[in-house]
Amino acid sequence: MLRGGIPIGKAFGIQLRLHYSWFFIFALVTWALAAAWFPQHYESWSLSARIAAGLITSVLFFGSVLVHELMHSIVAQRQGIPVQSITLFIFGGVSQITSEPKEPKDEFRMAIVGPLSSLVIGGILFGIYFGWRSVDTFAAQFVTGIAYWLGLINVFLGAFNLIPGFPLDGGRVLRSLIWWRSGNLKNATRIASNAGRAVGFILIFIGIYLVFTGDWVDGIWLALIGWFLESAAVGSYQQLLMQEMLKGHVASEIMSGDCVVVPPDMTIDHLVNGNILTSGRRCFPVGSGSEIMGLMTLHNVKEVPRDQWTTETVKEAMTPFDKLKWVRPDEELSSVLRILTQDDINQVPVVQDNKIIGMVSRENLLNFVHVRSRLGT
Ligand SMILES: [Zn+2]
Repeated sequence: MLRGGIPIGKAFGIQLRLHYSWFFIFALVTWALAAAWFPQHYESWSLSARIAAGLITSVLFFGSVLVHELMHSIVAQRQGIPVQSITLFIFGGVSQITSEPKEPKDEFRMAIVGPLSSLVIGGILFGIYFGWRSVDTFAAQFVTGIAYWLGLINVFLGAFNLIPGFPLDGGRVLRSLIWWRSGNLKNATRIASNAGRAVGFILIFIGIYLVFTGDWVDGIWLALIGWFLESAAVGSYQQLLMQEMLKGHVASEIMSGDCVVVPPDMTIDHLVNGNILTSGRRCFPVGSGSEIMGLMTLHNVKEVPRDQWTTETVKEAMTPFDKLKWVRPDEELSSVLRILTQDDINQVPVVQDNKIIGMVSRENLLNFVHVRSRLGT
């Protein structure tokens, strides 16, 4: 769900990104601070002081969310788990960590450092607040005002993330403990993600209650976070089940090998009416003789306006071979699934000796999993 976003730089070799939904929450937080929080607590401040404090606080707030995520990522990297990127979005931050930890203690460390860093940051900010709050100058008031709010929110963030519902950090801590005691990752994930769903439902309930008692902004917000958590809990358990089922199997086992090579000068119209509609196939390697030049899929067809179908050729519309994501026949299915999800594509060609020998689609993967779960293997 968090593909894309605007790159804002790198830290420790990790790409940092802002998702589009982040701008909304950034504006909302800044506005709430400048128009409500600071005026309520510091009546004497001028309008420009409030706006400046709102902006600075908001930037520092998202900075501290970033530090929280960076801590997760740095510990992951130390354990040899590559981290692709960190994205700030409407509900906070998320680290795209490409694989799961191999041992319970690794997961425990990776999970706990996030909330701990938020609590430490919160503690330092409260230190600044209590140390300076008796100083009666505008500058001191400005700094302590910002420090107080940031301290509160960081302590809240640390505490909230420690709630033991997967995939919250606390849920990961819970999972690592059960995993450590029982040695069974699947069971541990099931229990921790059920706890995550329960937390999600509780938040939704509290949210609905708040809406009916008149506090509808906080209510809707809380219900949305609850809903997000509940679906993330379900999703992460299913993903684990899927990974378990795919383990030990490779692309060549499930690929469909009936790819029909089409010549590069065929028109889109000919391809659609002569091949796609009659055969129901979705993808066609483009080439002449044994040389494959690229791949034509339904997606490529849809990119071409209908009135150009009779003039444009498949060579012009296809994805050229050097831009194509592909896998080897012995590629693990779990890594095929990762490629499909990461790049948000429906299928990937299986290539051997520069030839497309088959295709693996999401459908192939789903069928594979479906049949196996039906048979209970
Ligand atoms: Zn975290």
